[in-house]
Amino acid sequence: SGPKKEELQRIIELMDGFKASKALFTASEMCVFDLLQSQPGLDAAQVAQEIKASEKGTECLLEACVSLGLLKSKERKYQRPVYKNTDLAKRFLRSDAPFSLHGYIQHCNNTVWPLFSHLESAVREGSNQHEKAFGKKSKDVFQDTFYNSQEIKLRFMNAMHSIAKVTGKAIATAFDLSRFKTACDLGGCTGAMAYEFTKAHPGLSVTVFDLPAVVEMSEHFHPLHTDNRVSFVAGDFFKDELPKADLYILARILHDWPDEKVHILLNKIADASTPGCAVLIAETMLDGQTAYSTLQSLNMLAQTEGLERTESQYADLLNKHGFGDTCVIHTKNFLDAVIAVKM
Ligand code: SAM
Repeated sequence: SGPKKEELQRIIELMDGFKASKALFTASEMCVFDLLQSQPGLDAAQVAQEIKASEKGTECLLEACVSLGLLKSKERKYQRPVYKNTDLAKRFLRSDAPFSLHGYIQHCNNTVWPLFSHLESAVREGSNQHEKAFGKKSKDVFQDTFYNSQEIKLRFMNAMHSIAKVTGKAIATAFDLSRFKTACDLGGCTGAMAYEFTKAHPGLSVTVFDLPAVVEMSEHFHPLHTDNRVSFVAGDFFKDELPKADLYILARILHDWPDEKVHILLNKIADASTPGCAVLIAETMLDGQTAYSTLQSLNMLAQTEGLERTESQYADLLNKHGFGDTCVIHTKNFLDAVIAVKM
């Protein structure tokens, strides 16, 4: 029998997925959502003038955003349609929204997109594609690539900040943490996750431990030092002594590294921990094989030395370092959470 309409629709959706992503990235990069937030109801010619682009191209982009559910248009008799943000754009695409993903979208557009254009090589070689995409050899993706220029570093940190703000509360409230007084957020980046933990747990203080290049930017993200229960310590978690804590948080850290390096880090955490201390891992888990988690694993392949793992792989890794009583929560947000206690 001939192809069914639904089958064709699904195949077209998959083949066109990259066009939808790029339309979103382009509108975001050209600040269309910010513009239509401050001036709703502009037509294509007015938007084109504001974003300094061609009228023809702007109209195509705006119409694509309407069909993707990012903008709404209102037809007018004998006049061109006018455009407004949808609720989705207001909530996630404005750069000043509390749950803005603008920073992450910029990272996707400028870093992940070029890396994904070499996905075939990533699959053949089993390694990241920074050299092919950006012409730079890197031994350590963070220190040699992301933190090589101030602009790329800030873009990366903004990306981490935006996801941490969206997922932070779900992770911080996934488990009863009332018995812990001190936590160390290893690779805690801008501190966005740490602030969610202190907000959710009034008796908890959190030390954010990250590379010096990151810690020196912490004021940029939290200029008011709103919470003195969050502090920052600079260091390298593979080499330096870790701050002492009752709870070690690893949010989107282990997926950056192969098992050998994960063992080095878990070994250091185990050495710093006494019985009753715990490790909380926040990652996208492969269980359930959702498109989000499996595509995220391809993302890690193209971008880092790591990959996403299943909850039992995390439990095994933790077990080898004396952490047991593992408990997993699937938060239905970007990240799931696992906690394990030092025996
Ligand atoms: N935990 C944050 C979150 O969930 O938003 C950031 C996750 S980001 C994928 C990885 C973090 O690990 C970055 O902030 C990076 O600077 C940090 N990192 C990488 N290598 C490190 C090292 N050797 N020592 C300390 N931090 C490191």
